[in-house]
Amino acid sequence: MSWFEVTDPPAVRQATAEAEMVPGLGVACRGVVYIYRPEGHDVVALAGVDLDIAPGESVALLGPSGAGKSTLMSLLAGLLRPAAGRLTVGGHDLVHADDAELQLMRATAVGVVLQGAARNLLPYLSAEQNVRFAQRGAPQSGRGLPAPRDVLALVGLTDPGRNRLRPQRLSPGECQRLALAVALATRPGLLLADEPTSQLDSGARDGVLAALDAVNRAGTTVVLVTHDPDVGRRMGRTVTIRDGRVGAEGRRGEDYAVVGHDGTIHLPQDVLRLVPPGTLLDVEARVDGTVLLVPAGESTVENADAHRR
Ligand code: ADP
Ligand code: MG
Repeated sequence: MSWFEVTDPPAVRQATAEAEMVPGLGVACRGVVYIYRPEGHDVVALAGVDLDIAPGESVALLGPSGAGKSTLMSLLAGLLRPAAGRLTVGGHDLVHADDAELQLMRATAVGVVLQGAARNLLPYLSAEQNVRFAQRGAPQSGRGLPAPRDVLALVGLTDPGRNRLRPQRLSPGECQRLALAVALATRPGLLLADEPTSQLDSGARDGVLAALDAVNRAGTTVVLVTHDPDVGRRMGRTVTIRDGRVGAEGRRGEDYAVVGHDGTIHLPQDVLRLVPPGTLLDVEARVDGTVLLVPAGESTVENADAHRR
């Protein structure tokens, strides 16, 4: 019986899940900076990211194009190294790890789905062969590797005939789920998926989200990038990246500002319209535990309201 079987009766599935749960990996980012240097000039893609993700969480990264989401995913995958800050994934210190450690981490502990399903797949191999190929880099660990058929079943690719086809014969939704299966081939504790639902119709999108949910319930920490607020709502937690920093966090559809480790706070856009950059704020901590941000010279909100009138 395999951890990857998803069609068993619930009792069997429960026993399987307990026996073969994947230990999810946690993530800690402290002041993470990344700078691209195309042709000599600097592009600061990440300007101090503070973010903790607990083992087994599922998180959606949202934010405008160019905000730094893909860069952050590449850093978490150990494909790029931070210019400054601290970054750990599970027991790996990604600032100080040597190339061999990063390579081993990618081969065993972290599954990556790059933006655009085709970039993750070998066009001349069948679906099943693609999964088998992804297992080749993993040194045989004590728990062994799942059968490719079981990995494919986890993401809903259960038709043996279709699993013998090459990617170009599969639908866009099937290709995206195959890319997930390839990333999951070694039962990673962290799955990173960059826009896995973009360019899919709603049916295919739901198939990918169901696959991600199954992976997460089996213990794997899931971090995905999306532009789709609906997808964000279906994840446990949303983190908005803006201008290379964590701009806001969401829980159950509500957005919150986040206090960074250095005490900085990034105000939501609607608040920023009231207190433009450069505004001096008096920060009042009140006995009831609430905090007021009052523009200088307006000691209370009531005064501020009166002032505006
Ligand atoms: P997102 O995924 O949120 O759209 P990216 O992480 O791709 O954002 O990009 C963040 C910033 O870094 C953008 O300003 C982008 O133009 C820049 N950037 C991304 N990749 C490169 C690269 N290879 N060379 C130079 N600049 C890059
Ligand atoms: Mg991107």
